[in-house]
Amino acid sequence: MTVCVPSRPVVDRREDSLFDLDTLSLPAFAPGSVWLVGAGPGDPGLLSLLALHGLRHADRVVHDALIDSRLLDLIRPGAAIEAWGKRGGQASPRQETITARLIDRAGQGERVLRLKGGDPLVFGRGAEEALALALAGVPFRIVPGITAGIGGLAYAGIPVSAGGVAGGVALVTGHGPDGALPEEIDRLALAPVLVVYMGLAHLAALSQKLIAAGRDPAEPAALVEAAATPRQRVVETRLESLAACAETAAIAAPALVVVGPVVALRAQLDWWRP
Ligand code: SAH
Repeated sequence: MTVCVPSRPVVDRREDSLFDLDTLSLPAFAPGSVWLVGAGPGDPGLLSLLALHGLRHADRVVHDALIDSRLLDLIRPGAAIEAWGKRGGQASPRQETITARLIDRAGQGERVLRLKGGDPLVFGRGAEEALALALAGVPFRIVPGITAGIGGLAYAGIPVSAGGVAGGVALVTGHGPDGALPEEIDRLALAPVLVVYMGLAHLAALSQKLIAAGRDPAEPAALVEAAATPRQRVVETRLESLAACAETAAIAAPALVVVGPVVALRAQLDWWRP
């Protein structure tokens, strides 16, 4: 059989230009503004170039507990670094305290970079922070990051969609405003693939709800702890056994729950060795 493949132009990479962030004409970090930046799920290499540019120009970096500490080495020498996050059993700082801090420092003319694990707008309270900045009239930029529920799962060998296997995914939090399973779970229960953030606290109730909504109790499911970090652990199970499996394996936060046929692809796609 004759195969007709159109030719494609090939351009050689110029040899005289070494990569430099300056060649990208990235936006200036204006004094008195706040950048809300996603750091990705763990592996420092997943940081965006725009995020790196921000870290190199910030006067102050206010980060949460999910980020990899190696990212702090990328911050401009001389910048102030503040850690705000739940660590070692400490209570979370109040959201209003953090936003007030961002507004105050930007008001002093500083370039403030708020660094958050994953994507700032995916269950990261980035929307609340951006709204508070908008209300206060503080200029801001949002620098998206790779969210754990997509990029982290890729490091566990679980694609959130796959042709012919699953053509849709729902990202949902397992921790509603009152701490219980949120009602969104009921509405998204039948998505082809369901990725649950902060889902460890109510795993048994989560499984029951999804089964009651019509999912197969034997459907593939997985728990992914500390995805894309050196501590990554993955346990594969069935929907009905999620809670028992998490207990046996002593899965701890941060962890994702994923339910759907894509989990089975891990048998071939488990590529990463932390
Ligand atoms: N903005 C973040 C999510 C913050 S909510 C993002 O886009 O990824 C915190 C929850 O995210 C954790 O409880 C956990 O469910 C999930 N999470 C964040 N980082 C994770 C990681 N490296 N591995 C597994 N789960 C992670």
